[in-house]
Amino acid sequence: MTRILGHFVNGKNLTGASARTHDIFNPTTGEVQAAVALASREDISAAVDAAAQAFPAWAATNPQKRARVMFKFKELVEKDMENLAKMISSEHGKILPDARGDVQRGLDVVEFACGIPHLQKGDYTEAAGPGIDVYSMRQPLGVVAGITPFNFPAMIPMWMFSIAIACGNTFINKPSERDPSCPLRLSELMMEAGAPEGVLNCVNGDKEAVDALIEDPRVKAISFVGSSDIAQYIYANGAANNKRVQAFGGAKNHMIILPDADMENAVNQLIGSAYGSAGERCMATPVAVPVGDETADALISMLKPKVEALRIGPSMSEDSDLGPLVTAQHRDRVANYIQMAVSEGQKLIVDGRDFALQGYENGFFLGGTLLDNAKPEHQSYQEEIFGPVLQIVRADHFDDAVALPSDHQYGNGVAIFTRNGAAAREFAQRVNVGMVGVNVPIPVPVAYHTFGGWKRSGFGDTNQHGPEGVKFWTKIKTITQRWPEDVQGAEFVIPTMG
Ligand code: NAD
Repeated sequence: MTRILGHFVNGKNLTGASARTHDIFNPTTGEVQAAVALASREDISAAVDAAAQAFPAWAATNPQKRARVMFKFKELVEKDMENLAKMISSEHGKILPDARGDVQRGLDVVEFACGIPHLQKGDYTEAAGPGIDVYSMRQPLGVVAGITPFNFPAMIPMWMFSIAIACGNTFINKPSERDPSCPLRLSELMMEAGAPEGVLNCVNGDKEAVDALIEDPRVKAISFVGSSDIAQYIYANGAANNKRVQAFGGAKNHMIILPDADMENAVNQLIGSAYGSAGERCMATPVAVPVGDETADALISMLKPKVEALRIGPSMSEDSDLGPLVTAQHRDRVANYIQMAVSEGQKLIVDGRDFALQGYENGFFLGGTLLDNAKPEHQSYQEEIFGPVLQIVRADHFDDAVALPSDHQYGNGVAIFTRNGAAAREFAQRVNVGMVGVNVPIPVPVAYHTFGGWKRSGFGDTNQHGPEGVKFWTKIKTITQRWPEDVQGAEFVIPTMG
């Protein structure tokens, strides 16, 4: 009988009221390993009830006590690391070291959230006017929600809920229906760490659950990460429902390689960032832009044997560089993009479509693919492929290299590889992209800085985590106070402090 995963609401594992379910695959074998319940509107309402009930007491809990829960949670997640990594690897298909990295990058934000007593402090101005002091405080919003993608089932929920909860909000996580085990387990661990019932809830589901969260007036803010069309939908509908929304979307990150770059280093970094996690990272590097034909030819001659030598295998094998894609449907979509690129005139240097792994013929595998001569007008260049596919766009000059990522619809990350500090500095200043790496291929900022792309990679004006996270999950209140010894008469003009 199929194992059915439910929800975690008010401190309990529940199956929920809905009879709808979604299959969870093991991408390595292609088999259905479980199913997950898809929440109905009633299930969402019950989760919001629980979070709303928990909110007043949690918001009134002093920040040091909230921080202690975060410290304990960090300890418990660290202890459970191998278990969590296996859950991720078996449902997502990423290799175990990558799955551990997924958990660790989330824990980095939990560590940041442990500093909440300091981070949530307000400002104070003494004697702003005669006998008048002004101070501000950052208060939690109430019940808030996170809607997260399949590709980082540990990191992205932790980006959101650790800061939101540390700030005194109560949280509903709606993770991807493709790999829900890790987010469910994280909710259990948060309770073990001392968070009261209803502070962190995890509700599984699809569009029905998401729409119910958007439309429930008790949900005050939504943080979304996923594909751009859905991000835009959530941003627009969340705002129409009077919510604070941040919504992060897809990506097509470029790596610019100048002629003076350390080519061996650039190639090694590119192999990891283009093909690692089978390219299913929003900060992957699916486009390389060598400047000058000589650079392009040298790059391709060094890349080709390395792409051919990629070790593609079971996600839990210690010998794999990358595992399968998340579903058969996604694998087929990526393969269709390769065909589209060929039809557009790109040169197929390595074709991963024929790859098959002995003993795992039903797994969702695709070999590493390398394409040369992609052009800005090609649809396969303009859209996100999200697979182990690297496209090379040749640029003649530095200015062309700056223009390519700047003019692209997505603006998540970009990298430049060069030995020329002035060129790198100019690139970082001019490029129209949110996160820039200089000789760093995947420039995901550390937890105490902030993460966020531009253009169709990010809707809204506040980034994830770091100080921007605290800003997103709190509202500011400013108090102007006077304690006069004698009560004065009425004032009829707007007060000035002079
Ligand atoms: P997705 O958009 O399919 O799903 C994301 C979430 O939205 C899931 O929880 C899903 O259940 C929900 N959802 C799906 N369809 C919906 C609909 N019609 N209405 C309402 N909700 C819906 O994304 P995915 O395939 O899970 O994740 C991959 C995508 O996420 C890629 O585009 C990737 O670039 C992007 N991503 C972006 C970032 C970033 O920070 N910018 C980070 C990670 C992933």
